[in-house]
Amino acid sequence: MDRAIAIVEIFKDESAFQGTEVIVRGWVRTRRDSKAGVSFVELNDGSCLKNLQVVLDRNRPETATMAERLTTGSAVQIRGTITPSPGKGQSIELLAQDIVLFGWADPARYPLQKKRHSFEFLRTIAHLRPRTNTLGAVARIRNRLSYAIHTFFQKEGFFYIHTPIITTSDCEGAGDVFRVTTLDPTKPSLGSSESAYQEDFFQKPTFLTVSGQLQAEIYALALGKVYTFGPTFRAENSNTSRHLAEFWMIEPEMAFADLNDDLALAQRLLHYVVSDLLETAADDLQFFARFVEPSLLDSLKTVVQEPFEVITYTEAVEILKRADVSFAFPVEWGADLQSEHERYLTEKKLQRPVAIIDFPRDLKPFYMRVNDDGKTVAAMDILVPRVGEIIGGSQREERRDVLVEQMHRKGISPEAYAWYVELREFGSAPHCGFGLGLERLVQFVTGLGNIREVIPFPRTPGHADF
Ligand code: ATP
Ligand code: MN
Repeated sequence: MDRAIAIVEIFKDESAFQGTEVIVRGWVRTRRDSKAGVSFVELNDGSCLKNLQVVLDRNRPETATMAERLTTGSAVQIRGTITPSPGKGQSIELLAQDIVLFGWADPARYPLQKKRHSFEFLRTIAHLRPRTNTLGAVARIRNRLSYAIHTFFQKEGFFYIHTPIITTSDCEGAGDVFRVTTLDPTKPSLGSSESAYQEDFFQKPTFLTVSGQLQAEIYALALGKVYTFGPTFRAENSNTSRHLAEFWMIEPEMAFADLNDDLALAQRLLHYVVSDLLETAADDLQFFARFVEPSLLDSLKTVVQEPFEVITYTEAVEILKRADVSFAFPVEWGADLQSEHERYLTEKKLQRPVAIIDFPRDLKPFYMRVNDDGKTVAAMDILVPRVGEIIGGSQREERRDVLVEQMHRKGISPEAYAWYVELREFGSAPHCGFGLGLERLVQFVTGLGNIREVIPFPRTPGHADF
């Protein structure tokens, strides 16, 4: 095919394109026919939010017959000349010389006609929804965030490592895992579970990973600074607007570092990616500020301009006890903070990202480092307005005996994690890391309330479509 130009490139330097001939390809958003024998087509090619206005002269035979076939949703190529636009709403337009219609869309059946559709409806047409302004902008923002995350870590000297998707550990000893098996579920039980696994592919129980952290620790204790960026699976049967069964997580892990270093890294990362987005995705962000969340740009600028508030879990409990709102869940030292508590702290009380550190050891997994008080661990949860928890991390327990004691306390067999214990026997070192949920981050930067809108094909209880 002849070389086409992305519409975003034209808008980047409109004056340079004045008077030049270009080929563009994309999908018709709308068409308006004026009585004067001119048709206006709004063409979108997905490269940016903005449509390119295409002007068709219906008095010219080359464009006349084509004009009425350019229905909403049709895929076309247009060759023409960029000229100043006399109309309102755009400064340039494309005067069409010739048109190729690749694929017509039947207006009686194409579901994305010009009106606002509910997000619920759009989820049922996930094969077409990226052609809407909202889902297109989400896809571009996800892309840019991913790029910025890699750029940040590479600049900071972290190595990108790949941890397994099929694992034998369920990481936190908690449930919520998907089993991986080749056994035939319709066959009767093969007897004891031991002998059943003999027949299974790996000859032992295997799961989809809930976190790459434990394996990332191995590489941090060899390469110093590493990160993972991959899919993560949790069979959480909690139909919330912030949980998916399949999501993407970024997990840095660094050796010779403590919780303060961990906090500082998280701060720099969020600062970097949000600043980058404000610079490179201004149109898409403004779209979300206009149609989804009016306070969006202010809350993003707060992340860029101000440091997190850091408070201990104990301080958080005190603040919540003094709060003049009544919570559905009571606040007591030792109890988990609920979403309503997190939102109060970050949205009402402190109105900025908040890091809560030093949680009671009984609330957190076995691998977090026990503090000198013997009651808390060096954990951090980072909360942001509108979303709540976006990052969970900790300094890891590097002392072998304390780790084994923690495992016993939580009913986890040190034998099952022998390699993890052994890492503490050969050249152990203080180290820390965290997990950042990509979709929670996309929710934060777009203002979208439901996590199902920020991943192309959401997997939630009862839903694995497309
Ligand atoms: P939550 O309390 O919100 O369930 P968590 O404590 O289980 O989170 P971690 O195990 O610390 O979360 O995981 C690290 C990060 O991964 C979280 O801060 C969040 O951004 C993201 N995350 C966790 N579970 C999910 C999920 N089911 N869907 C999407 N993102 C998730
Ligand atoms: Mn969870």
